[in-house]
Amino acid sequence: MKRELCIGVDLGGSNLRFALVDRQGRVLARSAEPTLPSAGLDSLLSRLQARVGQLQEEAARIGTSVAALAVGVPGLVCSDGVVRASVNVPALEGVPLARELSAATGMPVVVLNDANACALGEKRYGAGRGYHSLIALTIGTGVGAGLILDGKLWTGVDGAAGEFGHIPVEPEGRPCGCGSRGCLEQYASAGAIAREGEGAEAVARRARQGDAAALAAFAAAGRYLGIAAAGVVNMLNLEAVILCGGVAQSFDLLEPALRRELVSRTFPVSGGRVHVAPGELGDDAGVLGAAVAAFDTVF
Ligand SMILES: [Zn+2]
Repeated sequence: MKRELCIGVDLGGSNLRFALVDRQGRVLARSAEPTLPSAGLDSLLSRLQARVGQLQEEAARIGTSVAALAVGVPGLVCSDGVVRASVNVPALEGVPLARELSAATGMPVVVLNDANACALGEKRYGAGRGYHSLIALTIGTGVGAGLILDGKLWTGVDGAAGEFGHIPVEPEGRPCGCGSRGCLEQYASAGAIAREGEGAEAVARRARQGDAAALAAFAAAGRYLGIAAAGVVNMLNLEAVILCGGVAQSFDLLEPALRRELVSRTFPVSGGRVHVAPGELGDDAGVLGAAVAAFDTVF
């Protein structure tokens, strides 16, 4: 039987998504459920195994089989597949997830950071097609990034690269959960845009109706994103900056201030040519990007 499909898993703090994917990036089967991080590691591992088993059966039913599996997780993942830190799913910390899942499923397993998975997904199948060097920003509860240089994911010497949300944008600014202060995440995440009793999506709706305070909230977030992105573009002379994640659905509201800062704070050679765009894969960026990582290990 030809082993020509992969399974991509997006293990988020809230949602656990699975997709059976072919090499063209088509999703042949999918499932989603709540992650339930507080249910603990054993529950999580047994549910992962069960859903992967179901997708393997689905692959067999259509006359093919699964070659590999990859899981994107919200945390720091070292190159040995051990999750070193995960604020949203603490049960994963210290777990050799790749080894555990490989032993359970009999397949090669890759574990990677969720923002890195989104970058791979958008590069192969989405807004990053045709670019060799890009950064994909994931803007939601937190702010992360996946960096692709010369066609390859750059994860840093320890796997900790891409912490875009912790670039300082205010020297004496708000304290951050990371221990520093004035980090971008404190000014441009969903929580930073939200107002008392109102989530970022509701603020976006008000902004589209012309509400001045709501427009100002997005302009402020866009401005800080532009300042941080300008630093990265000056440093790396990238082809594209792609915005993914929940807040990126409000790209139109962030874009004017972001672009203004980016252009005014970069050299024309790099800032004038960098393509800034929203992601094209929406909620599928994570599962498709994980599938890319899985395909790349076996083919
Ligand atoms: Zn921070």
